Amino acid sequence: MSYDVIVAGLGPAGSTAAYTLAKSGLKVLGLDKEKFPRYKSCGGCISTKIERILDFSIKEVIEDTIYGATYTYKSERAMDIISDRPVGYNVMRDRFDHFLVEKAKDAGAEIIEGCRVKSVEDHGDHVSVTCANGEVYKAKVLVGADGSSGLVGRQVFGLNPKEAAVSITAEVPYDRETANCKGKLFIDFGGVPYGYGWIFPKEKYLSVGLAGDTCKVGGKIKEYFNSFAGSHPALTNLKVEERIGWTVPIYYDGAPASVKGRVVLVGDTGHLVDPFLGEGIYYAIRTAKAASSVIINSMASGSIDLNPYQEWLEKEILPEFKAAEKLSDLVYNHPRLWYSIVEKDHEIMLRFYDVIRGEEDCDTFYTWVYNKIRSKPWKVIRRWIDSRFLPV
Ligand SMILES: Cc1cc2nc3c(=O)[nH]c(=O)nc-3n(C[C@H](O)[C@H](O)[C@H](O)COP(=O)(O)OP(=O)(O)OC[C@H]3O[C@@H](n4cnc5c(N)ncnc54)[C@H](O)[C@@H]3O)c2cc1C
Repeated sequence: MSYDVIVAGLGPAGSTAAYTLAKSGLKVLGLDKEKFPRYKSCGGCISTKIERILDFSIKEVIEDTIYGATYTYKSERAMDIISDRPVGYNVMRDRFDHFLVEKAKDAGAEIIEGCRVKSVEDHGDHVSVTCANGEVYKAKVLVGADGSSGLVGRQVFGLNPKEAAVSITAEVPYDRETANCKGKLFIDFGGVPYGYGWIFPKEKYLSVGLAGDTCKVGGKIKEYFNSFAGSHPALTNLKVEERIGWTVPIYYDGAPASVKGRVVLVGDTGHLVDPFLGEGIYYAIRTAKAASSVIINSMASGSIDLNPYQEWLEKEILPEFKAAEKLSDLVYNHPRLWYSIVEKDHEIMLRFYDVIRGEEDCDTFYTWVYNKIRSKPWKVIRRWIDSRFLPV
């Protein structure tokens, strides 16, 4: 069977691509190895800037609107930093992803669930996709959206799935009525090397997780998780079971381009995850929309040139990720010092919420926070920041 576009993987990136492409009138095939709704290990918090890029409402799958967080350092020294405006929305990924797949179907994409892509090939004038059931599909363009350690990224682009943060998550049933957690998250610094722990409340579950730098964690992710889950006050008297490990393919300097011939990578497959927060849902959807619009234009012009998508990534997305990398170095290399600074100055986090909302860029925030910290009358901090970070 022959299509205009095949989309491999139907998480937020793939279903958004399938939706956008089908809506434009192209003949689209979307394939996913799972049947929806399916579980995805994820905190499930989406920043409010998502509203600016979607052309439909996601209200029916939002489980809570988030205004801020209770922060802790190694499960202690709790402080609330809450804004008067929303910062994000909490969703359960099984419901959210299923909702997006249905949108793609409604837009006219042909969707095959339970169909694992086994190999892909770019033949120059078309691409072919072979599935585990032996079926072979052809198209003019392939969108790789098969997630972290995705086959398309590995096979066509030679991406190394080990270039990722390591994480562990659990969904913990709780009583929302008696828990004091409406409208906020719980974020813990210092409990895992170069990362953070989280508890994101949903309607029936607390999504509990912890992620850190793979090398620095050194195979001890379960131990860090147990210590976090066993000590955090929001988990007192709750049973934390069913732990799931997953990788978070954060952007890293030197990651390969996301366009090769007739194949593009969107979302996690292309390591298009913010390296400071590990926020990937927004970027999965945003990159899928951008790639789709390049594909639509390319099809209309009659000659396939997908390079404008890479140019767009380099202009619109990668500078943000590079600034987020700098912020990660500042915060995660010295979480205790960072926590002490924020404890005395909540404005830092309140202004960071504007970055999450997409109202300020990360580089501007980084420069502001760098200068702010440096201007503090504490000599030790000034010496620390000057020794570690280049002036901006
Ligand atoms: C522990 C953890 C917590 C996170 N928390 C957050 C958060 O709170 N907020 C946030 O914004 N981001 C978070 N992220 C990141 C977020 O989960 C991802 O960035 C997001 O899921 C990316 O979407 P995607 O569509 O690119 O990939 P995915 O959601 O992984 O979807 C990929 C799809 O491809 C399918 N697939 C895989 N291989 C094949 C194959 N061979 N053939 C066919 N189909 C295939 C899979 O079944 C899946 O449906 C978190 C990640 C982790 C691991």
